[in-house]
Amino acid sequence: MHHLHIIIQQILNIVINIKIIYIFLDIILFIMIPKNHPRYESLLLRKKIVEAFNNGILADSGMIAHGRGETFDYLIGEKTSEPAKLAIKTAAAMLLLAKNPVLSVNGNTAALANKEIVKLSKILDAKIEINLFYRTESRVRNIERLLLENGATKVLGTDFDNLMYINNINSPRATASLDGIYNADVVLVPLEDGDRAEILVNSGKKVITIDLNPLSRTSKMSTISIMDNIVRALPLLKEEILSLKFEDEDYLTSIVTNFNNNENLKNYLKTINIK
Ligand code: ATP
Repeated sequence: MHHLHIIIQQILNIVINIKIIYIFLDIILFIMIPKNHPRYESLLLRKKIVEAFNNGILADSGMIAHGRGETFDYLIGEKTSEPAKLAIKTAAAMLLLAKNPVLSVNGNTAALANKEIVKLSKILDAKIEINLFYRTESRVRNIERLLLENGATKVLGTDFDNLMYINNINSPRATASLDGIYNADVVLVPLEDGDRAEILVNSGKKVITIDLNPLSRTSKMSTISIMDNIVRALPLLKEEILSLKFEDEDYLTSIVTNFNNNENLKNYLKTINIK
C-alpha cells in the first residue's frame, strides 16, 4: 500500500513537471513573436482561446467557432468598419433605453471579454447570465468563478437558478433564468448560435448580437448586429454608452428607429473588399 502511494506520488510529480515545462515553453514561444508581427493580436486571441479550453471554460467546438470568426476578421482587415460603428452606437442607445437589459455570456465571450462584460454590466446596471450551447455544470461553475473574480457581484444562469423554458419550448436551447433573460426586454448575446437567437427574437425580445459573420442566421435575425470582433466591439460599446448616458429618451429612441439592420448588414458586406 505504501509503495503504491509512492508510485502515485511520483507519477503526479512527473505530470506536474511536464505541465510546468509546457507552460514555460508556451510563454517562450509567445515572447519570440515580435509585437509588429502582422498576426500578433490574432495570435494573442488564439492563445486565450486555447487557455480557456484547457481551463474548462470553452468547449472544443468553441475553438472552431473562433476560427470562423477569425476568417471574417481577416477579410475586413481586423478593423472596426463604419457599419459596425453605427450598430455599436445604436446598441448603446437601445441598452440605455432598456428596462431590464441582460448580458449573455458563453464560453467564447468568457474567454475573450469577461472583464469588459463585467464593466458593461456595472455602467448599465445590467444583469449577467451564463448561457451555454453545450452546457455542462463544470463549465458553468468555471465561467461563474471567472466572472466573480473579475468583479461581477451576481451571475445568473447557474445551477442555483430557476431555469425556465422560453415560450415553453422544451429544448436546452430555450432555457433562461427567470430574473435574467426570461424577463429581459433587451439581450446582448455575443457570438450566439442561430437557433437560440431565433427563440429570443420570436419571444419578442430585442436582440443585440456581436458576430463577425454577416451571413450567419444570428446576424440576419437579430435586431442589431454588430459585425466586429468582440474584443474591439465591447470597449467601443462602453465608450458610446458613456457618451450617450445623459441624452434624453427621445434622442436615444430616434437613433434606434433610424437604424435598419438589413441595410447595415449589406453595407458591411460591401466593406469586404478582396483584392
Ligand atoms: P448561425 O447558427 O448563427 O448561422 P454559426 O453556426 O456560425 O452561426 P456559431 O458557430 O454557433 O454560429 O457561432 C459563432 C459565431 O461567432 C460565428 O458566426 C463567428 O463568425 C462568430 N465569432 C467567433 N469569434 C468571434 C469574435 N471573436 N468576435 C466576433 N464574432 C465571433
